[in-house]
Amino acid sequence: MYSEKMYELGSRRSVIREIFEFGKKRIAQVGAEKVFDFSLGNPNVPAPQAVEDTILELLRTMDPAQLHGYTSAQGDAGVREQIAAALNKAHGTHYTGDNLYMTVGAAASLCICFKALAVEGDEFLTFAPYFPEYKVFVEGTGASFRVVPADTENFQIHFEEFERLISPRTKGVIVNSPNNPSGVVYSEETVRRLAEILREKSAQYGHPIYLIADEPYREISYDVEVPYLPNYYENTLVCYSYSKSLSLPGERIGYVLVPGEAEDSKEIYAAVCGAGRVLGYVCAPALFQRVAAACTGMTSDLSVYRRNRELLYGALTDLGFSCVKPQGAFYLFPRSLEPDANAFCEKARELDLLLVPGDGFGCPGHVRISYCVQTEMIERSLPAFEKLAALYR
Ligand code: PLP
Repeated sequence: MYSEKMYELGSRRSVIREIFEFGKKRIAQVGAEKVFDFSLGNPNVPAPQAVEDTILELLRTMDPAQLHGYTSAQGDAGVREQIAAALNKAHGTHYTGDNLYMTVGAAASLCICFKALAVEGDEFLTFAPYFPEYKVFVEGTGASFRVVPADTENFQIHFEEFERLISPRTKGVIVNSPNNPSGVVYSEETVRRLAEILREKSAQYGHPIYLIADEPYREISYDVEVPYLPNYYENTLVCYSYSKSLSLPGERIGYVLVPGEAEDSKEIYAAVCGAGRVLGYVCAPALFQRVAAACTGMTSDLSVYRRNRELLYGALTDLGFSCVKPQGAFYLFPRSLEPDANAFCEKARELDLLLVPGDGFGCPGHVRISYCVQTEMIERSLPAFEKLAALYR
């Protein structure tokens, strides 16, 4: 016998993956020039030169047994100190390496945090629209997952719904800003109000409610400051990843930050180490721990995403799409031109435009368009968007 639950998860592809696989098939049939794949959040901009330089330098100068050997489970001490110093410089904080636990990307950071925090009966809340894997990761720990419906006017937080859903069972609240899929950055006002409610409810329920800040898009923002959540709410754990900022998603590197200000900080950090152990991570990739440390604070050339955002947002709004202008990440999340986003995406697919329905992100009636693609592909896709819009005139 095997686990029905795992079978269920493993035998069904995610909607995004399914669309991506369809795209590959279509490319084989009609050619890459004629397929417009906006499905995946796979950065198309190369990693900064410093990544290659650091790898070559490490290969030339480090003892291979050390370079490729296991590090401490929580990550190489020097790496963690270097990242802590970079964070302190950027955010005026006082972290040390002992606040950091290196991981295999944000997905692992999240799984480790949920596993470290969850006890029987706990609940984790998030705000729609949200990254669909949260549900899988939270439920994988045995905790319950609940979604606060979206504020579809501006994709900030729907506070009335949040106050309705938060309960004594709430152990953690997951936030993702800049957001996948809406591209929205939570404003300082939103963050302050969120922190206020969390403090009030923690006091009322007699236990801390942790804020889990999922931050793979922190550096990808357009003309706005992205509030650094630990500076607004002490019980914040940060799940960071270098996948998007350095265009290294396949190298699997990130960290969990447990600030000293968080309640039971030392115990939570130990529980994070325990969770990493139970999940069999052993240690994060040794070479890329060192690359991440050397390149913390750098980014790929983000001007490409800015250009793509302007081009696509302008073209779609001209065609009559209604869309909150994204301030970060590399996604647009317009309303679909009919209430059923799945039916809309089917029509788009017939024009070889591959878009993702918002239902999986907890936000029906919208579609996600990932613009971390070549600008030329966006330009080539515009007639297809025009044809799609014309179907609804
Ligand atoms: N969180 C969000 C919001 C994401 O969009 C992604 C990846 O797309 C992840 C987490 C996982 O990132 P990683 O590749 O670092 O595991």
